[in-house]
Amino acid sequence: MFQYPCDYIAITQNYKNEAHHGVDLGHSTSYGGPNHDIKAVFSGKVVKIRMNYKTKDTTGRSYGNYIEIDHGNQIHSLYAHLVYNSSNLKVGDEVTMGQVIAKMGETGRATGIHTHFEIIKNGARVNPLSYLYVYPNQVVQKKTEENYVLQYAKEGEEMTYTVQSGDVLWKIAEKFETTVDALIELNHLENPDLIRPGQILKIPSKQETPDEEVEALKKEIEELKNRLKQISTLSTI
Ligand SMILES: [Zn+2]
Repeated sequence: MFQYPCDYIAITQNYKNEAHHGVDLGHSTSYGGPNHDIKAVFSGKVVKIRMNYKTKDTTGRSYGNYIEIDHGNQIHSLYAHLVYNSSNLKVGDEVTMGQVIAKMGETGRATGIHTHFEIIKNGARVNPLSYLYVYPNQVVQKKTEENYVLQYAKEGEEMTYTVQSGDVLWKIAEKFETTVDALIELNHLENPDLIRPGQILKIPSKQETPDEEVEALKKEIEELKNRLKQISTLSTI
């Protein structure tokens, strides 16, 4: 599930088919002000990036500085009007969901600081709101909450990762601070050497405590209880 690319969500212009191919996400002076961090909506690979655009240009149709990320399964995301030189990424770089990729700005055709955000599916620009989820660490502007139907991710929502070409399981495990065994078990991988690009893997959530650990803790508590019983028996003697 894709998460909104900024942590304060204020929709200033909706997607309108041919008239507006994406959704505009504004900034708030009461929530961090301009220069908001723009984050990758999902794991993927940078396929296009421009960072040398210095100014506003209200006459053209320019994205200004922008980044396009390939998430596999023919889905790309695009972030436009970014601040000049606010990213060190380059084509081919891999990003993870929630990774800061640039700063919100107003380069190109922009009338104010915002991020024009697009989802491109099979080459067509579709309505991003059907793909984006609000995550627990994100705040929604009141007006946006009232005027739009937003999708919310549940607390501890399971993360997924789309396998990129050249990926190996141990690298993915390292990236998400988990183990190869946990990935194999959660995804029922019969042959862990055979993961293919585009394949979607479930990522174990970090809060989850393995069953063995829970059992060990229960045992420890029982032992402590027994010891307490012995102590109180001794004191009554
Ligand atoms: Zn726009």
